[in-house]
Amino acid sequence: MTHKRFDNKVAIITGAASGIGAATARLMASEGAKVVLADISGDAANALAAALGPDAMAVTCDVSKEAEVGALIKAAADTHGRIDILFNNAGIGSFANTVELPPDQWEQVIAVDLHSVYYACHHAIPHMPRGSAIVNTASISGLGGDYRFAAYNAAKGAVINYTKALAVDHARDGIRVNALCPGLVETPITAGLNQMPGLPEEWHKRIPLGRGAQPEEMANVVAFLASDAASYMTGSIIVADGGTTAHTGQPEVAQFAGMP
Ligand code: NAD
Repeated sequence: MTHKRFDNKVAIITGAASGIGAATARLMASEGAKVVLADISGDAANALAAALGPDAMAVTCDVSKEAEVGALIKAAADTHGRIDILFNNAGIGSFANTVELPPDQWEQVIAVDLHSVYYACHHAIPHMPRGSAIVNTASISGLGGDYRFAAYNAAKGAVINYTKALAVDHARDGIRVNALCPGLVETPITAGLNQMPGLPEEWHKRIPLGRGAQPEEMANVVAFLASDAASYMTGSIIVADGGTTAHTGQPEVAQFAGMP
């Protein structure tokens, strides 16, 4: 039998019921991982676990609640004896500037997108053997500001620097920690944007590759970071954005100079 990349690896994936998390769960399971699918949407996580087979289990979990994250990690460790991969991926957005944003929404975004990463790492790291890996989903929105994304920008920026702190603190435990910064990915979180007249075209114009990513294209990067092929990578912030942040944002002069 051929060796698969994640044979016998135990992988916890948060936000696993949809989008990037679901694509990563499918990919890792197809390459031998025992996947633990955590999501606030328990029915969808259960359905995906059932589709993936007996090596997949689902746990209903609100990652913004420390006790629920503790129970998730305990369930995974009790079932499998250890955790090799932790993919902190669950996240939500906000659409308001600082004056518009009520405090409870600020707190909710910071709790789901940032506190959750601490809760999961705090509980999981003691169960993670040498050679294991953590991947955090940040965003290119953690690298700069977007209009009316203040809480999300703050949370994802903090995830990026927290990833570096985790990498430094746990390198000598043999645990690597890296972050993924996606640009636009075609998932339910961004589906509403496609309904706004003219927005998809305008957005795609700002992406040098000219389109949003499919979640499977993010899963490929996550799987690489979680695999032994990335054995010398820790504290790395990996941008996968179709070139969006490579561009300075300056206008294309040639268009105005009558050049073809
Ligand atoms: P998605 O909406 O398809 O998936 C997010 C999943 O997280 C859902 O299944 C949802 O139920 C779950 N979730 C939400 N709140 C939760 C909570 N409190 N506890 C547990 N689960 C919760 O979106 P996606 O695009 O796959 O997003 C995954 C990650 O990627 C998020 O962190 C998001 O911020 C990040 N991201 C997405 C994009 C994009 O364009 N789609 C870009 C950059 C970063």
